[in-house]
Amino acid sequence: MNNDKASRSRKKVLDSAQTFLGLARQTIAERGPVLRGAFQLRGTRCGKDGCKCNQGELHTTAVLIVSEAGKRRSYYVRPPDRPEVQRRVERYLRFRAKRAELSKLSEQVLGATDDLLDAIAEPHRPQRQRGALTSIPAAQRRRVRPKR
Ligand SMILES: [Zn+2]
Repeated sequence: MNNDKASRSRKKVLDSAQTFLGLARQTIAERGPVLRGAFQLRGTRCGKDGCKCNQGELHTTAVLIVSEAGKRRSYYVRPPDRPEVQRRVERYLRFRAKRAELSKLSEQVLGATDDLLDAIAEPHRPQRQRGALTSIPAAQRRRVRPKR
């Protein structure tokens, strides 16, 4: 038993669980709508003779990149739809970032819980110290025989 380690671990379990809960509250506050995808602005050439894009002044095309049945697809986004599509994608990315953080925090909670277990665990077998068994009470030292 390591009391210092145990109390540090207890504190860490609670602290990370509280941080987790705070972030969980923020995460569920998202009302959407969200768009699962990536929003991208690309420079493109239209191919028309005499257009400025032939001199290197490219047109800006907005695309939404999504994964459909495991395949990557790009969709053109009309200029009037750009702001809303971008907002929905940004909400999605923020949501994903929070989820990743929640995953890290849950690892911390579990890690600290494991540390606590290590700190409070006694050895499986009583160990002899100076000829006497350690602090295990006599009643617990008897081997339990299975009932028939
Ligand atoms: Zn052009």
